[in-house]
Amino acid sequence: MATDWKAIERKYYMFCVRRQPIVIVRGEGTKVWDDEGKEYLDFTAGWAVNNIGHSNPVIAEAVAEQARTLVQTSNQFYTVPQLELAEMLVENSCLDKVFFCNSGAEANEGAFKLARKYGKQRRNGAYEVITASNSFHGRTLSTWSATGKPHDEDPFLPLPRGFVHVEYDDISAVREATTDRTAAVMVEPVQGEGGVNVPSEGYLAELRQWCDEEGLLLIFDEVQTGLGRLGTLFGYEVSGVEPDVMTLAKGLGGGVPIGAFLAKDHAAVFEPKGEHGSTFGGNALTCAAAAASTRYIIENDITDRAREMGEYLKAGLQRIWDSRDFVTEVRGVGLLLAVELDAEVSAEALTACNERGLLLNAPKPTTIRIMPPLTITKDEIDIGLERLEAGLVEAVNQG
Ligand SMILES: *Cc1c(COP(=O)(O)O)cnc(C)c1O
Repeated sequence: MATDWKAIERKYYMFCVRRQPIVIVRGEGTKVWDDEGKEYLDFTAGWAVNNIGHSNPVIAEAVAEQARTLVQTSNQFYTVPQLELAEMLVENSCLDKVFFCNSGAEANEGAFKLARKYGKQRRNGAYEVITASNSFHGRTLSTWSATGKPHDEDPFLPLPRGFVHVEYDDISAVREATTDRTAAVMVEPVQGEGGVNVPSEGYLAELRQWCDEEGLLLIFDEVQTGLGRLGTLFGYEVSGVEPDVMTLAKGLGGGVPIGAFLAKDHAAVFEPKGEHGSTFGGNALTCAAAAASTRYIIENDITDRAREMGEYLKAGLQRIWDSRDFVTEVRGVGLLLAVELDAEVSAEALTACNERGLLLNAPKPTTIRIMPPLTITKDEIDIGLERLEAGLVEAVNQG
């Protein structure tokens, strides 16, 4: 008899994520298989992580080779994969210095610390960071506090202070919230977890101008938008607006856990006296994987491909929108897309699509988020669209 992994989970695992009832045992490219051998097209990509596809041989080989060579030494010493990755990220971005950590939340924590020190030194002790409503910055205490949702009923109060939330895509709200205490503004170039919200043209440029006028750091949380997701290597390239600080994680390691924050020289204010650090951050193993993944993205023009496939997928979603009353909007950039429904049936839609062999994500009761590997093919998009439309119809008819 097959092992009942779902029962084992119920018994042993903390219940904090409502899982879809699928035990995934293998993946290849855009496809994954469950423990009963059923095949799915994965339009979630490990939450926008598997940018170059599941089990890409480039990652498998980099991890295996590095594991045989050197896994970890601590940052007391120089290691080669870390420095190769650092050079690659800096040379291919507008930022000057990088620090490696292990997750998106940790990257944002580092960015907040940079902002606090910057404010202390350059803005008379300012420490607040303005963030946006519907943003998502992580689940540690401070990134949770930074995340733009109402915290009044929060089970985790008291939260770290120093975060002010304003409406996303509203420059006047940022202007009004700016005080002597403000050190930085942090936004996602396109909000991911908040439902794939694309700001109006000009918003990020106006933010840049405001931060320049006021001497604030502009921080882009590119944990989800970085590494090709929007059809450019980094999300800031879509608008051409350069941040002072940028955080990365999800797509960086090709599936392996690694985060990073990068800063322009004027914002890289840490000094070597234990102000910041990490035991595992920048270890040889994850850096080798991230270097292999990033090199693959750059050398194979995966960003162009993401842009092309994103347009193709979005056009298909728009055809569904045109022909189905229950779809009220299709939005997104590159391969970070969303379908908005007129009823709260996204959970039912996920189930109906799972049955048809398509994995999706639902950040809100009315929103389906679509973020497949950037290596997806047109054929896979066509099949996915068919399954999506059929699944949506079933969910709406039931609902
Ligand atoms: C996922 C995400 C995070 C948190 O990353 P973790 O690796 O889960 O800590 C932070 N910011 C954004 C924009 C994200 O999408």
